[in-house]
Amino acid sequence: MCAVCGQPLNGVPRLRPVELRKLPKTAKRPERMYGGVLCPSCLTKLLKKTIRSQVLQQLQARQ
Ligand SMILES: [Zn+2]
Repeated sequence: MCAVCGQPLNGVPRLRPVELRKLPKTAKRPERMYGGVLCPSCLTKLLKKTIRSQVLQQLQARQ
């Protein structure tokens, strides 16, 4: 489930914890920030928001 919109996520197998332990870590979720937490559209929105605020902070720090 996406943490923002609640949509089911791709790439996160629904297995029991015992079976999850047998899998390598990379098989459990997509290899990226917030993989397995947010759906791609919410992730894009969040990343854009995060990057924008970081850029603003850097600009303000320079002044
Ligand atoms: Zn979402």
